[in-house]
Amino acid sequence: MIKVCKFGGTSMADGINMKRVADIIAADKARRFVVVSAPGKRFGGDTKITDLLYRTHTDVKETGHCGEAFQKVCERFCGIVSELGLSLDMQTILDDARREIEEEKSEDFTASRGEYLSARVMAALLGFEFVDARAVVKFGENGNLDGELTFRLTAEALKGKRCAVVSGFYGEDRKGKVKTFSRGGSDVSGAIVARAVGADCYENWTDVSGFLACDPRIVENPENIRMLSYKELRELSYMGANVLHSESIFPVREADIPIRIKNTFRPEDEGTDIVPTAKYRFGGRVVTGIAGKKDFTVIFVEKSMMNSEIGFAHKVLGVLERHGISFEHMPSGIDTMSFVIDSALLKNGVLEIITKEIEQAVNPDVVRVFDDISLIAVVGHGMSRSVGTSARLFDAIARAGVNVRMIDQGSSELNIIVGVDNENYERAIRAVYEEFFTKKTADFGYQA
Ligand code: ASP
Repeated sequence: MIKVCKFGGTSMADGINMKRVADIIAADKARRFVVVSAPGKRFGGDTKITDLLYRTHTDVKETGHCGEAFQKVCERFCGIVSELGLSLDMQTILDDARREIEEEKSEDFTASRGEYLSARVMAALLGFEFVDARAVVKFGENGNLDGELTFRLTAEALKGKRCAVVSGFYGEDRKGKVKTFSRGGSDVSGAIVARAVGADCYENWTDVSGFLACDPRIVENPENIRMLSYKELRELSYMGANVLHSESIFPVREADIPIRIKNTFRPEDEGTDIVPTAKYRFGGRVVTGIAGKKDFTVIFVEKSMMNSEIGFAHKVLGVLERHGISFEHMPSGIDTMSFVIDSALLKNGVLEIITKEIEQAVNPDVVRVFDDISLIAVVGHGMSRSVGTSARLFDAIARAGVNVRMIDQGSSELNIIVGVDNENYERAIRAVYEEFFTKKTADFGYQA
């Protein structure tokens, strides 16, 4: 049995927490490969090491030298090492990092040092070998992960090792330069290691006891989700449920490796299991979880007889493609088509240019723009073949006095996306949560 364990920033925040991590690893012999984030916040108002390093990069760009922010990084790591009573020569390691940061002058390289240093400390604490992600995680020409090469190199590096600590968050590009994933990317690194060693389980240790059915900032004390399928996870994390990086399922999915979300500070809690979709067992809830995001723009296009005009959608999509704009959803009717786009992509006059070009491309009767739209995703395998789910959903939203601006339901019946005005976002989420989770009738839909 092999378990790969990834520990997030809060779990690595200080010596006491790192000791906790060491205890968790010691409690199970199967926990052989460990992936770590950089130390995160120790308390509200504290600064994550990664953020200090981004500041360091700005300092280097402006002055050529690491400044005060890097000094804080050094103090944090030296503090941790002395707290843990390790004999690691941290000062030399930090001096080397400083020199390299000043030489490389690269933002990604600078940010990556948080995970590098944290993995060095963790390896020393556990007495495990350290494996630098730079040597095994490789990005391809297009900037995306080169999965095949990465899995092979990681497997080779870990073969024959009983235990190891691998640094999270970064790898190396084709030119031999360090490149990071997007923020929170150590989750992806953990999934890569799990895939490479053929782990039985990818344990992702964080500071919450698993996935919650809803954002706790909106609904007080929402239910914990005991089991999620990969597909449900993808839908929920894409739509803002951010326990796990949304790209972390790709490496493990193809190998059917389950992910278990666990809480470093409450290891006895069950957490959430994320399982291959085929292994998902219906737990009784029609809806597994609710997530959402604010600030979308809808571009609505209407033209009579649109349905018989061959190439209509192609021409409109061509406009978006030329401007490098991706869209989230495309609900359509016989003579209408809408594009839901993240408003951030349409700033600085882009929206105006796009609508003009759509007019030129397809000569529509109407092009209208609605902004300040929020999307709410109601996700769950239990919705499929469950009669009356949408009726309950829309009834609940209507009872809350919220107007639905857009609806999109995938034919897999895994999710229903509802668009509402930003100002109604929280109200709508509360209403949906109450309908599917807190009402007496909440549990079971009628299965057709
Ligand atoms: N340390 C990085 C961040 O703060 C990556 C990670 O923790 O996964 O985003």
